[in-house]
Amino acid sequence: MIPAIQVASESACWKQILKHSQRSAQGLLERLALDGSSVDFDPTFAVRVPEPFIERMRIGDLKDPLLLQVLPQLVERDTVEGFTNDALNEMAAVRTPGVLQKYHGRALLMVASTCAVNCRYCFRRHFPYQAHGPATHTAALQALEADTSIEEVILSGGDPLIADDARIADILTRLDDIAHIKRIRIHSRLPIVIPQRITEGLLNILAGLQSQTVVVVHVNHAQELDGSTHAAFKQLKQANTTLLNQAVLLKHINDAVATQKDLAEALFEQGVLPYYLHMLDQVAGAHHFDVAEIDAQKLMAELHAQLPGYLVPRLVREIPEQSGKTPVFWTTQQQDLNTQSCDARWLRGV
Ligand SMILES: *Cc1c(COP(=O)(O)O)cnc(C)c1O
Ligand code: SF4
Repeated sequence: MIPAIQVASESACWKQILKHSQRSAQGLLERLALDGSSVDFDPTFAVRVPEPFIERMRIGDLKDPLLLQVLPQLVERDTVEGFTNDALNEMAAVRTPGVLQKYHGRALLMVASTCAVNCRYCFRRHFPYQAHGPATHTAALQALEADTSIEEVILSGGDPLIADDARIADILTRLDDIAHIKRIRIHSRLPIVIPQRITEGLLNILAGLQSQTVVVVHVNHAQELDGSTHAAFKQLKQANTTLLNQAVLLKHINDAVATQKDLAEALFEQGVLPYYLHMLDQVAGAHHFDVAEIDAQKLMAELHAQLPGYLVPRLVREIPEQSGKTPVFWTTQQQDLNTQSCDARWLRGV
């Protein structure tokens, strides 16, 4: 066991890193020895990138797959038909302030309103957190306790691990005490962008839970993984959590077969299973990341041919008013849709 004093200094460490995140596009470019003539300075969705993530970017490469995820571009200002401010109609899913429910048995608890990194493709970039985010958790937790149909609570945000250990401990232990909640899931990009966030304090809280716990991280490219993420994942596993990854399919970042294959293998080497590969949400300002569905389907067929089945993520799209993420089906290239398996046709309802 580690003495309490050391826990305090560890937690101060990740907060310091967060506080010193790069907050300007200019600063980020200078840090990478790049010139900024094609870059925008969008004031509504500010630049925010922590140093450990910047350290994994290549110096002098404007096409670096990590840089492209966080660097504002002038092209974001274009208006493109079909790309809107509330692409997922999330406002309609707000139950109690701080609780979002769209799917049966699973509810999202919005623990924090900000993230440690601002991803340019994010579907939440226009979400009015101030009005619908977490004011108090008491009402939200009471709502979850009152609804016995909820079996799984997903801590979300923003990024829930932005909250400090005391707050996380309070929420997790209160959820753990609710009899009908079997599983607690945490969706966070913090183990990637600031692996120091996985403190001894957090690990102790997780290890003490009765509920099954799942941590879904968010890695889009193998270059985001290094020794520090590996160490964080190992500790999370030792605290009895199941580790899954979700990624977003992003043009020029991870839409090549080799890139997705590397990602799946690198994740598995670090003890994480690929879960979802999301089609981009049609959010205003993110159209330049969009990959056509037909290209995504070809990519999946290739991945399926090259990887063991358990390393192939499920390609999904989020469509408002659906009862879950919507699978995007694909078929191996030798076949056409008429000859695909009975299972797939049944799933598509034809
Ligand atoms: C994605 C999402 C979930 C989780 O869906 P799974 O398919 O179980 O991973 C739950 N609630 C909301 C609102 C979501 O957007
Ligand atoms: S919610 Fe996820 S994708 Fe969006 S900015 Fe935060 S970390 Fe990035």
